[in-house]
Amino acid sequence: MEQPILGIHHVTAIASDPQRLLDFYTGVLGLRLVKRTVNFDDPGTYHLYFGDQTGLPGTLLTFFPWPTAGRGRRGVGQVDVTALAVPEQSLSYWEDRLRSADVPVELSGKRFNEEVLTFADPDGLKLELVATPQEEGRGASRPWQDASVPTRHAIQGFHSVTLCEQGYESTVEVLEMMGFRKTAEQANRFRFEVGEGGPGASVEVLCVSEAPYGRIAAGIVHHVAWRVADDASQRSWRQRLVSKHLDVTPVIDRCYFHSIYFREPGGVLFELATDPPGFGIDESIEELGETLVLPPWLEPYRQRIERVLPPLQLRKPVKEGG
Ligand code: ZN
Repeated sequence: MEQPILGIHHVTAIASDPQRLLDFYTGVLGLRLVKRTVNFDDPGTYHLYFGDQTGLPGTLLTFFPWPTAGRGRRGVGQVDVTALAVPEQSLSYWEDRLRSADVPVELSGKRFNEEVLTFADPDGLKLELVATPQEEGRGASRPWQDASVPTRHAIQGFHSVTLCEQGYESTVEVLEMMGFRKTAEQANRFRFEVGEGGPGASVEVLCVSEAPYGRIAAGIVHHVAWRVADDASQRSWRQRLVSKHLDVTPVIDRCYFHSIYFREPGGVLFELATDPPGFGIDESIEELGETLVLPPWLEPYRQRIERVLPPLQLRKPVKEGG
């Protein structure tokens, strides 16, 4: 039997202006830029990773900023919304903070007994902050120590992703094969949890039979990656996926983790990514995100790559009290 899938590893989305993106995720949301690199499959584009202090899997929102990208369209076959966990008493703090940054917010009421605040990033990527009880064992995530967000209100990593699907059966069959179990449902929304469950190990399936398919561009999730413990676990999952006739890629070296990809039957691109080796592999934890780092095979092209990438300025936030 395979080692269980451990939860969400990262979510990758398309963005447009990289500086605006950087300012929003570091300055407004208080996440740390934990890696400034390029899309290994398209080295003329940045790949920017935001997360907690060390870039722990389960806290990582990553982006391919295409400066000229138009807005995409959310729809069927896509991640509809990415939800981040915040401490239970923090939603009013975040409501004020986002409003004062001119970000429209909507208190969406309770979903499965948790309060939800809905907003979008500058490219229209739909995000939620979900008020989440602080549980023992979830403490591994450490907020960015230089963030302007007070530590007691800091984003704690992922809560869940919501998949927008036309059907139910074939997607759920794959989720169940991956170890997810249904833990709640409300109208056309179904919550599944994996491993220890709870925030960071949850996915919701929203069934909308009539909605149009999405179109990928700025503000749209490109894929969601799930955590596997190590290479051996990944190999065994890969065999399992192959045996279920899912068209899975070979293992691809992403430097900070190793990845395999496949599309779930409803159309969402899934990745299984290893927890190790992590972001300390090519720069110190103190210096994460400060300079452009490239994988060894792209290092010979550094000058050419730096010429085409737009300049990026990492502004140091001013810490609020407490
Ligand atoms: Zn990925």
